[in-house]
Amino acid sequence: MENFDVIVVGAGMAGLSAAYELAKSSRVLVLEREDQPGYHSTGRSAAVYASSYGSEKPAINALTKGSGDFFLNPPEGFSEHALHHQRGALFVVHQDRVAVLEDFYQKIESQNQQLKFMSAEEVNTMVPILKPEFSCKGIYDKDVFEIDVHALQEGYLRGLRGRNGVLVTNFEVTEMDHQDSGWQISNGNESYCAAVVVNAAGAWVDEIAKIAQVQPVGIQPLRRSAILVDPPEDQVVDNWPMVIDVEENFYFKPDAGKIMVSSANEDLSPPCDVQPEELDIAYAAHYAGEATRLNIKRIEHSWAGLRNFVEDRNPVVGFDAQVQGFFWLAGQGGYGIQTAPAAGRLVASLILANKIPQELEDFGLDMALISPARLELRHE
Ligand SMILES: Cc1cc2nc3c(=O)[nH]c(=O)nc-3n(C[C@H](O)[C@H](O)[C@H](O)COP(=O)(O)OP(=O)(O)OC[C@H]3O[C@@H](n4cnc5c(N)ncnc54)[C@H](O)[C@@H]3O)c2cc1C
Repeated sequence: MENFDVIVVGAGMAGLSAAYELAKSSRVLVLEREDQPGYHSTGRSAAVYASSYGSEKPAINALTKGSGDFFLNPPEGFSEHALHHQRGALFVVHQDRVAVLEDFYQKIESQNQQLKFMSAEEVNTMVPILKPEFSCKGIYDKDVFEIDVHALQEGYLRGLRGRNGVLVTNFEVTEMDHQDSGWQISNGNESYCAAVVVNAAGAWVDEIAKIAQVQPVGIQPLRRSAILVDPPEDQVVDNWPMVIDVEENFYFKPDAGKIMVSSANEDLSPPCDVQPEELDIAYAAHYAGEATRLNIKRIEHSWAGLRNFVEDRNPVVGFDAQVQGFFWLAGQGGYGIQTAPAAGRLVASLILANKIPQELEDFGLDMALISPARLELRHE
């Protein structure tokens, strides 16, 4: 049976970023149930980095800030492609509820000096399809970019392999046995050993906990769906910002010449290969029709993914308090791509040096915010 220092369960963005960082100085194995990495939440995201997104959650805020530089200046040789490109975000609201937009500005202006109020004329110039009811005023955040998720994932994988790390796909972890010497992890046929296991199984983290006889953290997988539609024929959309309703009824953004629309739904789901429900698609089309001149005749594509939260909506990162060598990397919610570089560094530092990296502490990260032990409500 092959022996590693660390086994990571799950090859989504969480598992891969952690494995990449750990492999600098440890022998790392990543086990993935699917035949390819990134098949679940990671491959279904909106791929946006926004420093204001999730900034009301201090741990998300710190991990987002701590990740920004990686996207802008990745390590030499990490990827042939840029990991980011400029997008910008325009926050709008129905004209009857402009006070909500102003409240939103008050809440986040201290976090983000880039925010700018836009007049109706400016809003219309930026996104000419918004109806007058949704374009009387806007807030523009230029500090928002799109992440090339595929390039990021491939960069982590290549870097992992370059550091002698191993990814095994088509390996569903079904048995985990903890002895004094460490963990023995198996799919029923083959087994691997390691002193430490990192649970980065996304929506399935509590399933993995049950297999390992560790108390679950109460993960709640919430379905979010999206549709892809044609823009109006007279519009070139590529340079539009992402448009976000501050009341979170919808958002839309350009996507390779088309428009991606979501009703920003959050529907509780079991962990699964989640698909959009008809009602999700209907809501997305409805809100797009309310706010814009989009005349949706055909839905080119629709999909759904799971955003996984624990009760306080901060991530769960750290060793389990009760079971030795069991490390949690869970609950990244809607921010797991934009926080991945810092989260990977955090995992490696906690496992190898038992401390939070200084630069993340400087952004306000504290074990009390992320530790599994903080979750009093540990579900059976
Ligand atoms: C519609 C949508 C929009 C989003 N937009 C954004 C955004 O704009 N910006 C942002 O930062 N984030 C966004 N997110 C969130 C982001 O996608 C997630 O936070 C992130 O992908 C979580 O990564 P993960 O590795 O934890 O999970 P996953 O990608 O789901 O990976 C978990 C992996 O574990 C594997 N696994 C599970 N059980 C086992 C087992 N028993 N054995 C082996 N392997 C197993 C699974 O097969 C899976 O590959 C969005 C999410 C959705 C759904």
